[in-house]
Amino acid sequence: MRRVVVKFGGTSIGDGELVRRAAESVAREYKKGTQIAVVVSAMGHTTDFLFEAAKSSTAGKITEAEMDDIIAMGERTSVRIFASALRSLGIKSEPIDVQSEEWPIITNSSFGRAEPDMDTTRRLIRKKILPLMDKGVVPVICGFVGKDANGNVTTLGRGGSDITAFLVGKCLRASEVIIVTDAEGVMSADPQKVSNPDLLEEITAEEMYDLARYGAQILHHRALEHKDPELDAKIIHFRHGNLNAKGTRIIGGGGRKVGAKLHPK
Ligand code: ASP
Ligand code: MG
Repeated sequence: MRRVVVKFGGTSIGDGELVRRAAESVAREYKKGTQIAVVVSAMGHTTDFLFEAAKSSTAGKITEAEMDDIIAMGERTSVRIFASALRSLGIKSEPIDVQSEEWPIITNSSFGRAEPDMDTTRRLIRKKILPLMDKGVVPVICGFVGKDANGNVTTLGRGGSDITAFLVGKCLRASEVIIVTDAEGVMSADPQKVSNPDLLEEITAEEMYDLARYGAQILHHRALEHKDPELDAKIIHFRHGNLNAKGTRIIGGGGRKVGAKLHPK
C-alpha cells in the first residue's frame, strides 16, 4: 500500500477555490488506493496578519506563549476548511487539531521555536494517525504547530510546516513526502540574479539542506533532518493541480552533513 504525506503551503491554499483544487488533487490520488496524510499551512498570509494584529493590539506586551497560541490559529483554521473540502468531494477526512484527541506532535516549551519530542511524537503518530489512515480516513494535520507536555500550544518557527510534513512522513514510514508550493522546484541558480536558470530534476538532501539554510526560501532546512534515505521527497508547483507533477526530487538522507559541526545559532 502506497502511503504519502502531502503538504500544502500558504499560497497553494490562498483562497477557497485553491483549497478546492488542492483537495481535488488529493481526492484523485486517494481514489487510486493511496493512503494520504495532509499537512497544511495557514491560508495565504494569515500568519503574518495574526502576528501583526497580536503585536500591535498589545503594543508588544505579549508573552511568547500567548503569541504561539494566536498564530497557530492560521493552521487550526486550515485543517477544518481542508477536511470539509475533502468531505464535500466524498472523501472521509478528519481535521487533526492541536486540541483533538488524536493530536500527535508533542514538543518542548520553547515557544516560537519548539523542538518535537520525537519518541513521543512517533508513538502517537503510529497510535493515533495510522489507524485512521488504515480505516480510509485522510487526516488533515496542522503544520507548524505543536503542543507541550502541559497542553500549551507551541510553534516550530516560521515556515515550520515543512518540518511537520517530513517528521510525519518519517514516523508514518511513508513512501513519499510531497511539498506543494509556489515554485516549480529547485532552480540551478537564483532567478533574481541569473536569467533563465534550469529547473533541477533532483538534488541531494545535503545540498538542499545547505541551500535552505543559507537563504533559499523553498523549504525549511530543519525539515531535512527528518529525511531518511528511504523516504522519497519532491517539491512541486500547485498550479499543476496534480500530485504527480515532476518538480524537483530530493534524494538521499540526512539533511545535515555527517560529522559537520555547526555553530550554535
Ligand atoms: N504558517 C506558518 C508561517 O507562515 C508556517 C508555514 O507556513 O510553514 O510561517
Ligand atoms: Mg512555507
